Amino acid sequence: VLSSESSDTGLGSASSAAGAVAPYRVVLLGASGVGKSLLARLLCGMDEEQDTDVVSDDTYERTLMVSGEEATLQVLEGYQQNDGEDETLVQSEDVCIIVYSIAERASFERAVDMHAQVRSTDSGENLPVVLVGNKSDLVRSREVSLEEGRDRASALDCKFIETSAALQHNVRELLEGLVRQLRPRGAVGGQ
Ligand code: GDP
Repeated sequence: VLSSESSDTGLGSASSAAGAVAPYRVVLLGASGVGKSLLARLLCGMDEEQDTDVVSDDTYERTLMVSGEEATLQVLEGYQQNDGEDETLVQSEDVCIIVYSIAERASFERAVDMHAQVRSTDSGENLPVVLVGNKSDLVRSREVSLEEGRDRASALDCKFIETSAALQHNVRELLEGLVRQLRPRGAVGGQ
């Protein structure tokens, strides 16, 4: 058995098996009501031929190509309340999306706070973060300008995009931006 294993470890052989690459996690943070669950569903189900896998209430999955390899993308809500305290669930390999509503200034302030919270943890220190101004269709009730969102993102060293999940505007661009942030991983051996 040992000899057949060792003769079988050609470069790339492990990653050619489906599911050999660990899932990429995209963690969604933001105030309640800004559109996180709608965005998660859209990010995981936009291709018609693509079945969205609902892993649990707030985790969605899809497969896609990352650096020429088939990979699983998991999109999940990134915090939970514990005794009234917010706990962010980011891990060191994640990509983080922090969402606010352009029609609700308080959600923008919350997004900025959450960014600081993520950066203050060991695992979140160096994560790629995308700041997302959602509900861009609500032009008449806009409270945060495009420039302000963009300027804040650049001050915080984040990527930035405005989306309308309701109109599915810029959601594909967001997904493409996310995929570019994913760092290719080697195959996970032995599983
Ligand atoms: P979550 O609490 O952050 O997960 O927010 P949801 O995804 O549950 O969305 C909250 C509400 O905002 C729902 O009624 C959505 O239909 C609505 N919503 C989400 N995205 C948009 C958007 O881009 N534009 C508008 N007008 N409404 C949106």
